[in-house]
Amino acid sequence: MKVLIVEDEHRIAASIKTGLEQEKFTTDVAYTGTDGYDLASTGDYDLIILDLMLPGMDGLSVCKQLRTDKIHTPVLILTAKSQIQDKVTGLDTGADDYLTNPFSFEELLARCRALTRRPQNSLNQLLVVDDLTLDTSQFTVTRNHTSVSLSSKEFSLLEYLLRHSHQILSKDQIITHVWSYESDILPNTVEVYIRNLRRKIDLPFRPRPELIHTVRGFGYKIGD
Ligand code: CA
Repeated sequence: MKVLIVEDEHRIAASIKTGLEQEKFTTDVAYTGTDGYDLASTGDYDLIILDLMLPGMDGLSVCKQLRTDKIHTPVLILTAKSQIQDKVTGLDTGADDYLTNPFSFEELLARCRALTRRPQNSLNQLLVVDDLTLDTSQFTVTRNHTSVSLSSKEFSLLEYLLRHSHQILSKDQIITHVWSYESDILPNTVEVYIRNLRRKIDLPFRPRPELIHTVRGFGYKIGD
């Protein structure tokens, strides 16, 4: 699950980022409205947390422009303003929810979970292929009724593969969705993570069929 945080106050941005990453979200941060709009318009995010008062473009303009561009990523507006009018305007421009500062991290997290679980995104809590199940709310993975322990990044990678099961995903697609844009990631890092995943979800379960397949020259897929 990838979240874009658009917030010009570095301290707030950093604390949201750290908190969400502990909850297994992948995050990118933009410190201006313009950068936020540029990143958001790639459509690569599952959720955008958007401050209203921003240098460059303000938050409402960012939201409005994204909706005009037919980018329907859920937007959670985060703002120090508590006036009702701002909330109404925010929701009118196509935002999905709002949270006024000061807020508790628990509340932010609950909103993030609710927004990313919405059925129109077809984001289900349980992702299943064959005898493998990943529970996105409990952060658990089981295969053939046996629990499998994964690192945070392995979990994100498996979640991404499962959300696109039976489809071929290139290394570039995987990098874009599973890693933050600022991390120095090379295509062979993806190979390393795929190898580790196989060691955990395929090899121990032989002779059950392998779930992760390499499609030479193209990428990877999970399931047939
Ligand atoms: Ca601000």
